Amino acid sequence: MAKRILITGAAGFLGSHLCDKFIREGYHVLGMDNLITGDRRNIEHLFKLENFEFYHHDVTTFVHVPGKLDYILHFASPASPIDYLKIPIQTLKVGSLGTHNLLGLAKEKNARILIASTSEVYGDPLVHPQTEEYYGNVNTIGPRGVYDEAKRFQESITMAYHRYHGLETRIVRIFNTYGPRMRLNDGRVIPAFIGQALRGEDLTVFGDGSQTRSFCYVDDQVDGIYRLLLSDYSEPVNIGNPHEITIKDFAEEIIRLTGTNQKIIYKPLPQDDPMQRQPDITRAREILGWEPKVSRSEGMEKTYEYFKSLSQEELNKSEH
Ligand code: NAD
Ligand code: UDP
Repeated sequence: MAKRILITGAAGFLGSHLCDKFIREGYHVLGMDNLITGDRRNIEHLFKLENFEFYHHDVTTFVHVPGKLDYILHFASPASPIDYLKIPIQTLKVGSLGTHNLLGLAKEKNARILIASTSEVYGDPLVHPQTEEYYGNVNTIGPRGVYDEAKRFQESITMAYHRYHGLETRIVRIFNTYGPRMRLNDGRVIPAFIGQALRGEDLTVFGDGSQTRSFCYVDDQVDGIYRLLLSDYSEPVNIGNPHEITIKDFAEEIIRLTGTNQKIIYKPLPQDDPMQRQPDITRAREILGWEPKVSRSEGMEKTYEYFKSLSQEELNKSEH
């Protein structure tokens, strides 16, 4: 009989790719989402399959699904700064109450649960690159605190269920990941820059653009998450691509990729925007035998192709 997996945040960017992956691997997938930042179209192609079910549900309220469950992936949460600044209370609730509900469900069903944490638990890091041992530098009361602290609480309650209830838990700390199905207007840097290039607008770099990020292609991320779920390791694991770039250089790279005639303009740096970010992936290499395979140029080509295929109407809708 096929293994059964519940994926929350199924209609989102990462959740939908995870649904595809587990369907390909022969699982029976139960997708759950309240569509607050996701899009039903990301998983519409799965609706006709017998081994896929969709539950339109808010995980901050009691979660129940019929039948046995072998695994749970908890990916529901706004993930982009403009989303979680717009819906701060929901962000805190999905990381805290939502995670509590899913841990309770995992306990009831005797399922293994993997929760989606983030490099944001390191805040504006004072250690570089970031290892899993680093405790982080988060402003609890700053605007980004709603996301960072929800995710930090999520990790704590997950470890508590592991220690006190013996639940099988996994924690992935995801670093900036990109690819097809990101929402054009989600405000994250890749959809923002590509959307601007496609609409013939200048590219908006925040601050002086000297802050860095390290971008991981979605296929690599999904492979890392898959390996972690099936591993026997319950401490957090960083999954990301260590290839770091400044945002200004990245804007120039996107100008070359898209061939746009537009230029870079500068806007104020959002409060608490981390100045540098690069994962130390030694743990993932050693424990999961994982490392990213897709170069930024290859991944960005594929991502650009996806955004180019969207309709003009959709492109214009995404303007801020
Ligand atoms: P996304 O916004 O595309 O997907 C999140 C999904 O969760 C959406 O479909 C949304 O509708 C759903 N959701 C939100 N609140 C919900 C609730 N209360 N009940 C049910 N569904 C709800 O974001 P994403 O980039 O796919 O991120 C997915 C997960 O990965 C998040 O937990 C995020 O924190 C984590 N993450 C992502 C990245 C990244 O670079 N993409 C980095 C670090 C962590
Ligand atoms: N950024 C930018 N211009 C934009 C959107 C984002 O310069 O139009 C910057 C942002 O300030 C941050 C980096 O790009 O330094 C990555 O931002 P994103 O929102 O993608 O991810 P996060 O800050 O959560 O890593």
